[in-house]
Amino acid sequence: MTDTPPEPHADPSVYKTLLESTRAIPWKIDWKTLRFAYIGPQIEALLGWSPESWVSVDDWASRMHEDDRERVVNFCVAQSRDGVDHEADYRALTRDGDYVWIRDVVHVVRDEQGEVEALVGFMFDISERKKTEQELAALQKQLEEYSFKDGLTGVANRRMFDRVMDENWGEAARRRQPLSVILVDIDNFKQYNDRHGHLQGDECLKRIGSVLTSAAKRARDFVARFGGEEFVIILPETDAQAAMSVAQRCHRLLLREQIPHGDSDAGQLVTLSIGLGTIVPSRDDTVGGFLEQVDQRLYQAKRTGKNRIVAA
Ligand code: GH3
Ligand code: MG
Ligand code: MG
Repeated sequence: MTDTPPEPHADPSVYKTLLESTRAIPWKIDWKTLRFAYIGPQIEALLGWSPESWVSVDDWASRMHEDDRERVVNFCVAQSRDGVDHEADYRALTRDGDYVWIRDVVHVVRDEQGEVEALVGFMFDISERKKTEQELAALQKQLEEYSFKDGLTGVANRRMFDRVMDENWGEAARRRQPLSVILVDIDNFKQYNDRHGHLQGDECLKRIGSVLTSAAKRARDFVARFGGEEFVIILPETDAQAAMSVAQRCHRLLLREQIPHGDSDAGQLVTLSIGLGTIVPSRDDTVGGFLEQVDQRLYQAKRTGKNRIVAA
């Protein structure tokens, strides 16, 4: 006797159960009548409006923040008419009068003649992500407005680092994304000052600040002066391997600068020791504990000869 595999379309209730147990909310609109053929019962938990109350696209449009409505409705209608799959973010009105950020992902279904027949889609609750984006944008603005910059080097200062680090830590934890941090300390900088004077020491710090800034190229990468002659780089959504290549780029770009050190014990050129750490923060982790670990690696780079990178 042979086992026959289950018929794939045997039991439609399986699909219904699946659709109604995801966090994304499925829906279908008949294009000719512009009425809802279906909307997942999860909609009620999210917005408070019962599935039966979603009758036509007018209900959808009227339950949208008025600042989003025109843009989103025009866009979705135009895309649907052209038969193009699309997605749109907007604030949906809840029954209590609040708003929830939604991402609507829409697929256009055509009939055999190629005419648009229906729209099917999923609504995703993206309020957490929007909140983070808004917080990060507000922080960014604050950086510009209040100048959370280090006066000497022009990179962010320690205070700004603490805030940006907390933000990125929270986001990495929520989204289960790796977060990397690079700690940089100039080698034998005391001797550099002794030899060339404090003013030239300041110039050297500025050059290193800009080398690090050009090494960390992605829009959300963040460079700060951590203290005296130490810098720190935050690399959001960056795994250990990618962080290692940023650290190596720091070394390479500094080498290209050819900043003379000139102390016989310290070597001919200014060099950097680097500690590197990557984490997907879990509930037991703390920012302080993580930075401590990265600092230990920096210390290890010093102890084992300087001008090197120590990672996990
Ligand atoms: P190591 O290789 O172990 O890091 O040795 P180091 O000499 O770099 O380290 P140490 O911590 O002994 O010295 C750091 C020096 O950095 C001492 C301090 O004068 C100098 N420094 C800190 N901030 C500034 C600054 O703003 N300008 C200048 N010119 N020097 C600074
Ligand atoms: Mg130091
Ligand atoms: Mg040093």
